[in-house]
Amino acid sequence: MIKDISNLPAKLEALLTAQKNKNSEGKVADYIPALAKVDPNHMGISVATINGNVIGAGDSQVPFSIQSISKVFGLVMAMNRIGDDLWQRVNMEPSGQPFNSIIQLEWEKGIPRNPVINAGALLVADVLTSNYSASKLAFLSFMRTLASDDNIFIDKKVYQSELTHGSRNAALAYLMKSFDNIQSDIPEVLSHYFTQCSIAMSCQQLAKSLLFLANKGLDPISQKSICSARDAHRVNAILSTSGMYDQSGEFAFSVGLPAKSGVGGGVVAIVPGYGVICTWSPPLNTFGNSVIGTNLVSGLAEELGLSIYH
Ligand code: GLN
Repeated sequence: MIKDISNLPAKLEALLTAQKNKNSEGKVADYIPALAKVDPNHMGISVATINGNVIGAGDSQVPFSIQSISKVFGLVMAMNRIGDDLWQRVNMEPSGQPFNSIIQLEWEKGIPRNPVINAGALLVADVLTSNYSASKLAFLSFMRTLASDDNIFIDKKVYQSELTHGSRNAALAYLMKSFDNIQSDIPEVLSHYFTQCSIAMSCQQLAKSLLFLANKGLDPISQKSICSARDAHRVNAILSTSGMYDQSGEFAFSVGLPAKSGVGGGVVAIVPGYGVICTWSPPLNTFGNSVIGTNLVSGLAEELGLSIYH
């Protein structure tokens, strides 16, 4: 694996330029109206390494809606809070369905396939609301601590927009409640979930905040344990098999890194033992993954030989 990062800034710029010159397809998410207002031309990339380097290009310091990338942090908090009991209520299998699908959930009696599809993340949100007295605050301060940045904020417009257009997520939550797999009141669970999805962060902040997953659960800068090595392994395994939704197989096949996308256009990829890549470009493919963001991760991983399957 390449440890010399001296020519990385130039590589990142070159990757962005190549994407700017391409005519790529993709559509900004509009089922959450506030996200449809984001300029589709934003493009950023950041790489944070476990030995403390942070490099970026383009809009790498512009905050965007982290959306489903928040599911990674929620999962870590829930694992820390209730341990292996979590796995009685949610599985760890790829779903083979769109991220907000409802069909499978009834067949499988209210047990979500994994914690990074919407049903699974709502289940995790329930674990957090019922095990923290102020789960939203706990979540925000977890993010601020991980990125060591107290300016990280909740975008209230995105939150309101999600709440007003959240019927499908409400349906998923009520269906799980009907199978006794949700403990808290549904409005509380939804409010927590929409809050964590509406957090705004930049590529740089996200890359830094996930370094513990590239370092066996230990924050490489503060040397604080964020989760156990076993749980870091488990989260990376889930991200490898399900983090890019129904494109996870293709992503593993062509890139080979644990990764998570969000409909705000962000993609994070963990390179165990090395660092974290985060990219941002709002237009999405039909799986809900950023077209250019995925290309950028793929391009960099290939150039640096980062696949975990080598
Ligand atoms: N908040 C979004 C939703 O619930 C998150 C989805 C995503 O980023 N894939 O639909």
